[in-house]
Amino acid sequence: MANQIQCPSCKSFKVKVDDRTRKWRLGISMTLLGAALYYLGYLWQSAIGGFSLLFGVCFFALGIVFILLALTHKVDKATCKSCGFKFTPGLADNG
Ligand SMILES: [Zn+2]
Repeated sequence: MANQIQCPSCKSFKVKVDDRTRKWRLGISMTLLGAALYYLGYLWQSAIGGFSLLFGVCFFALGIVFILLALTHKVDKATCKSCGFKFTPGLADNG
């Protein structure tokens, strides 16, 4: 089990961490899904195929955005669900 992150403000363990790996996974899966939809739309010469092409392009673009966000994401940020305090996990340890 992963280390529990504690809020430095109210000592709550109900903390949501915005981590980089999640953005990576989301970005890569979205670009793959977009490419697959685009390919299906390309094979499917119909109105549904047209929608599939359109969705494919949208998913692909969103996936690229998430990958760029992951690339520029240097520090993980955490938000406390109890008090809303925002902090950087790791730096606030043993305080
Ligand atoms: Zn808190």
